[in-house]
Amino acid sequence: MKREKSTGHFERAKRVMPGGVSSPVRAFNGVGGIPPFIARAKGSHIWDVDGNEYIDYVGSWGPAILGHAHPKVVAALNDAIENGTSFGAPTELETHLALMICDAIPSMEMVRFVNSGTEATMSAIRLARGVTGRPKIVKFEGCYHGHADSLLVKAGSGAATCGEPTSAGVVEDVIRHTIVCRYNDLDGFSDAMKSHGKEVACVIVEPVAGNMGCVPPKEGFLEGLREVTERSGALLIFDEVMTGFRVAFGGAQERYKIKPDLTCLGKIIGGGLPVGAYGGRREIMEKVSPLGPVYQAGTLSGNPLAMTAGIKTIEILSVPGVYKKLDEISKSLTDGSSEVFKGNHIAHQINRVGAMWSIFFTDRPVVDFVTATESDCKKFRRFFHFLLDRGIYLAPSPFESAFVSLAHTDDDIKKTVSIVNEWAKGERR
Ligand code: PMP
Repeated sequence: MKREKSTGHFERAKRVMPGGVSSPVRAFNGVGGIPPFIARAKGSHIWDVDGNEYIDYVGSWGPAILGHAHPKVVAALNDAIENGTSFGAPTELETHLALMICDAIPSMEMVRFVNSGTEATMSAIRLARGVTGRPKIVKFEGCYHGHADSLLVKAGSGAATCGEPTSAGVVEDVIRHTIVCRYNDLDGFSDAMKSHGKEVACVIVEPVAGNMGCVPPKEGFLEGLREVTERSGALLIFDEVMTGFRVAFGGAQERYKIKPDLTCLGKIIGGGLPVGAYGGRREIMEKVSPLGPVYQAGTLSGNPLAMTAGIKTIEILSVPGVYKKLDEISKSLTDGSSEVFKGNHIAHQINRVGAMWSIFFTDRPVVDFVTATESDCKKFRRFFHFLLDRGIYLAPSPFESAFVSLAHTDDDIKKTVSIVNEWAKGERR
C-alpha cells in the first residue's frame, strides 16, 4: 500500500506539532509506522491522502455511530451553518438536545454542555467536591477520564492511597487527593472506602471500560459501587463519554440498571463535532453557576453546530431496532474473528459490549488494567499492520476499543473476517 503522501505530510506536521499530531495516540507510537493522513470519510469507509480506502473501526474514537457524513446530519449542518457558527448566547438547540438527553438517561435531570469529555469529567468532579465539601476522589486504574491533572494518576506500588502521576507537570499536591483502585475489584474498593470514605467526594468510573481496551464490569461491580457510595455519602459519577448512546440508547446505566448521581457524556452527543456534557440529579446540578457556587463556563459551549449534529444523531438512534442491529453487526464480526483465532490456535480474548469491542492476544480473561497489559503487544502490532495494509483501520494501540457503526455492511464484516483469517493462518506457520 502506497503511503508517500502521508509520509510527507507526517514529516511536515512533526516540524510544527509535537509528534505531528493533535492527540498522542494518533502518532502510531503504540504500533510503529506512519499514520495515514485522512482525506475524507463516508459511511463505514475512510480514505487517506494517497487514495487508500479502509473499513473504519475507529469511528473517530466513538462518535461516528451512524457512519461518517450521514446524509441527514450533513443536511442539518448545512442548514445550521447558514445561520452562523457561534453566538455565545442561549439557543433553543441546547434546550432541545438537553431534553433529548434527559429523556434517554433519566438520572440526568439537568445538563450542562461543555466542549469535550475532559471538560465534562473535570467539571463533574469539581461539582462533586463543591456539593460534598470533601477533597478526595476515587478512580480505577486503566479508566481514562480525559487529561485533567487530578485524573492523570496510576496506582502506586502497594497501597491504593499512594498514586503516581502519569504525566510530567502534574504536581503531587493535586494527586494527593486521588485514590486509585483496581477495576472490577469490589473488595479492594470497599477497603479503600472503609479507610477514606468520609473524605471521598466522588467515585468516577467508566461503567464499561473502553480505555484499556474494552473491559466490561463484572457482575455486581457497579451495584457494589452504588451501594458503597450511597452509604458513605460520596457521589457516583459514571463517565459515559464513550458508552453513552453506544452500549444502549440510555448508555451503560440503562444496560446495567444502575442510577449514578452524575453522568459525563461526549463523543456521540456531538455527532462528530466537539462536545461534552455533564448532568445528574436536579439538586446537585442546581449548585452549578449561575444558580450555585460551583463555577464552570465556556465560550463555545453549547455550540449550535455541535448541538445540531447531536440532535440529528440521537434522533436517528432513537428509532426502534437500531441497537439490536448494532449488536448483530458487531457480534458477527467478533464471533467470526474468534472462530478464526480458535481454528488457528491463537490465544485470544474478545471483550464486547454491544458495538464496542477489543481483541487481546492472551489466554487469560481480561478484567482489569493488569490483565489487559499482560496481552501480547507484539502480536497485536503484527495484526494491526497486516490489517491496515489490507484496508482495515483499527485503533493504533492494543489498549483501545473498536467501534462498529450502523453503516457497516455484511460485506465489510465478511471482508474483515477473511483478512483476519489470512493473518491468523500466516501467524500459525
Ligand atoms: N472519558 C472517556 C471515557 C473517554 O473515552 C474520553 C476520550 N476518549 C474522555 C473522557 C475524554 O474525552 P475528550 O477526548 O473529548 O476530552
